[in-house]
Amino acid sequence: MTMSKDVYAEFEAIVGPEFICADPAIMPSYHNTAHAAVILPENTAQVQAIIRLCNKHKVRFRPVCTGWTGRFEPGMLYMDLRRMNRIIEINEKNMYAVVEPYVISAQLQAELMKRGLHMNVKGAGTNCSAMLRGHGHLDQSTSGDDRNHLAIEWVTPAGDIVRSGSLGSADEWFSGDGPGPSLRSILTSAVPPGATPGVFTKAAMKIYHWPGPTKFPVVGASPNYQLSEVPPNMMARYYSFPSVDQMWQAELKLGEAEIAFELMGFNIAMVAANISTSNEEEEETFKRLSKEIQGPGFFIIIAGNSAADFAYKKRVLNQIVSDNNGKSVTSLEDPRIEGILLCQCIRISASIRETFRPGGMFKSIPVMGQRDLTIKWAIGAGKAKEPLIAKGLIVDDGGAAFGWGVEQGHLGKTEIFCKFDPHNAEAQKAVDAWHFEQSDRAFKERYFALLGYRNEPNATEEIGQALSSYHKWWNEIQKAFDPNRVSPEGGALV
Ligand SMILES: Cc1cc2nc3c(=O)[nH]c(=O)nc-3n(C[C@H](O)[C@H](O)[C@H](O)COP(=O)(O)OP(=O)(O)OC[C@H]3O[C@@H](n4cnc5c(N)ncnc54)[C@H](O)[C@@H]3O)c2cc1C
Repeated sequence: MTMSKDVYAEFEAIVGPEFICADPAIMPSYHNTAHAAVILPENTAQVQAIIRLCNKHKVRFRPVCTGWTGRFEPGMLYMDLRRMNRIIEINEKNMYAVVEPYVISAQLQAELMKRGLHMNVKGAGTNCSAMLRGHGHLDQSTSGDDRNHLAIEWVTPAGDIVRSGSLGSADEWFSGDGPGPSLRSILTSAVPPGATPGVFTKAAMKIYHWPGPTKFPVVGASPNYQLSEVPPNMMARYYSFPSVDQMWQAELKLGEAEIAFELMGFNIAMVAANISTSNEEEEETFKRLSKEIQGPGFFIIIAGNSAADFAYKKRVLNQIVSDNNGKSVTSLEDPRIEGILLCQCIRISASIRETFRPGGMFKSIPVMGQRDLTIKWAIGAGKAKEPLIAKGLIVDDGGAAFGWGVEQGHLGKTEIFCKFDPHNAEAQKAVDAWHFEQSDRAFKERYFALLGYRNEPNATEEIGQALSSYHKWWNEIQKAFDPNRVSPEGGALV
């Protein structure tokens, strides 16, 4: 849908001619999609004015930060939030940070480390927005997703400004809740499928104690990031175990002991991805490391607040690992490799390699929830990958799933994916079949319900009923907040 000159002029009047564009020559740089126009608001007032105009002219809009999501519908007003990139506050006493949408994780993490603090960087990478929820490598000690959100400034799809929790009642950012019914359950985030319609213009997020140096000793440039030295009282190791159950028991005990700074259930293919700089080197590294493991494993970082604390944590770790017949992959203990792993897995700077790697595409089944349950399901899903690996249709990553604990294992995440060449039709077909079968098995065997894995007419109804009819509530919420269906999610009523 092209925007009429008059309507375009009204939007232009809000941001000025410099910060709006509908030039077809420019659109390819915006995810190669024919957007109605791209507009770059500078602040909350401009976002509100833009959304009110969208309602007036029934123009659908899409707010975007780094656009790592990658899926965009043509004909919408693309709200590029890159001008809203300010760190508003770092409150060291109450341990929260307030950011605008386009503050990326790398930027905020560096500022926090200077103050002995840090944050949850989602697994998508340090290049992504810090504000939008996510989960990843650091969840064991920095929680994840919307559990880190505090108060939020939100412009609804109808153009109202909502200040949640303590922000609305006391102009403070420390809490997203308040007396009475809380909006938090709706203000979860923007990463589909649980996408909150409208625009987050500012958000407070929890920050955490950082036991490391105020300046992280990174040297080199991508993909050759290294540490000039392994910081004192810090250690990274990868342990493999004879069975999934012994790995799981060790993970549980480590959660109870609360000694891990990071516990990431990488499969060894992902470790190879983190320490390699090319596909060829990665293939070779994966083959070499595969010979050093005895079975499934996890990556762990221990960080002491003192030499004594570090020594205590190492003793507990060694005890738990040996109680479960775990073995360290010794080639990864080389200080240069250990430095690379500390760098990649604290800054989260290797996601693109972890996820895409050779093959060029990945299709995953991610599950948040009870890890012991989902691990059992994932073993079956891993077995189902083996025939595809044998036929060379997907990248051989040992078939293993990966996952991690959240908040010292109180919650957890398990994920399994296939990496393949999207230009290989046979591979695409086989991976789609695998994805459907394993998602359907999860639903039928009541492990979890992956939203959207089925799209025949009554699918949403059947899955929705199994999930407390969330779909009905979500539709009502959408209709209430987005009467003119102008926000992205508004158009996707389930
Ligand atoms: C290779 C890869 C690995 C990934 N791994 C992980 C992972 O380990 N953990 C994880 O949590 N996620 C992961 N993701 C998903 C990722 O979090 C999202 O893709 C997210 O998009 C990251 O980019 P971003 O935060 O800059 O958001 P964007 O891509 O810019 O936006 C994400 C979504 O939020 C909407 N949006 C953007 N800004 C706002 C705003 N201010 N208000 C309201 N809506 C907004 C956008 O319209 C879009 O729907 C991965 C994605 C990829 C591609």
